[in-house]
Amino acid sequence: ELSALERFRSLPAETKDGVRVEVAANIGTVQEAAIAAEQNAEGIGLYRTEFLYMNSNRLPDEDAQFAAYREVAERMNGRPVVIRTMDIGGDKELPYLNLPKEANPFLGYRAIRIGLDRKELLHTQLRALLRASQYGNIKIMFPMISSLEEWRQAKALYEQARRELVQEGVSVSDSVEVGIMVEIPSSALLAGSFAKEVDFFSIGTNDLVQYTLAVDRMNEKVSYLYDYFHPAVLLLIRQVIEAAHREGKWAGMCGGMAGDPLAAPLLIGLGLDEWSMDAGSIVKVKQAISRLDSRDCRTLTDRLLQLATTEEVRQELLRYTESQP
Ligand code: PEP
Ligand code: MG
Repeated sequence: ELSALERFRSLPAETKDGVRVEVAANIGTVQEAAIAAEQNAEGIGLYRTEFLYMNSNRLPDEDAQFAAYREVAERMNGRPVVIRTMDIGGDKELPYLNLPKEANPFLGYRAIRIGLDRKELLHTQLRALLRASQYGNIKIMFPMISSLEEWRQAKALYEQARRELVQEGVSVSDSVEVGIMVEIPSSALLAGSFAKEVDFFSIGTNDLVQYTLAVDRMNEKVSYLYDYFHPAVLLLIRQVIEAAHREGKWAGMCGGMAGDPLAAPLLIGLGLDEWSMDAGSIVKVKQAISRLDSRDCRTLTDRLLQLATTEEVRQELLRYTESQP
């Protein structure tokens, strides 16, 4: 069984009828980029940079960040590396920032909200990212975007950092894509407007489920309600992917759903372009994709999106997966 799986390590992710998708890895540290490369990840779909901040007792300066981003970009050797600006707050604390204790940290001061308030933090990170951009294929992604205004402010900071570096004579890549995580329902609902301005979307199902279903992702007491196959979540995901494609942009997913082989027929049916997951899930998901026919998946997906309950969606996917040769 292991060796049957192993075959997929070196193969591209492709359906029986030849639809190729990009299967990438989620990483939190520079060291994990080596593991991702070993697993033959076709890229990094999510580099969670907050660990660079959390594993330190003071803010990492521009040079320290530059070194880390450059190393990841170089290790991936030209393959795409999507680097997310810091997503501090929520469950991720940072003692030296002296963040106030909040009653509802997941609805509070976190991620891009901190970056747009304490602009010097985001500015430093964007400079480091842009400096590293000439050493590989870096794409920049903003977390927890809930409105066009936030995206435009973040994008303006990016443009400013770029102008500065150019003025300083520092060379930066001129093909850096800039996109957003879609992990808040408001952004999924406005995907049509976002798609006209961003270069890409990456759907963060971990938070999207939490915010759509009002279920704390950390709370065991309500974990029975936490499910990415909830029909409301599926409608949002479809809307995001379709909006991206209407504008000729790509749509990825870096939440846990992308690494679940049971979700593969649905995500192929929806036309997801880039799948990013823990490196350990890559071969399993590639194998699941290799068994699928994309036209069958589209028919299945049309049916799945008509279902009214999570249970029916799961049952239908299980039936479909078991019927695959
Ligand atoms: C997500 O929310 O799905 C995601 C990938 O980000 P994180 O798990 O880091 O919040
Ligand atoms: Mg998230």
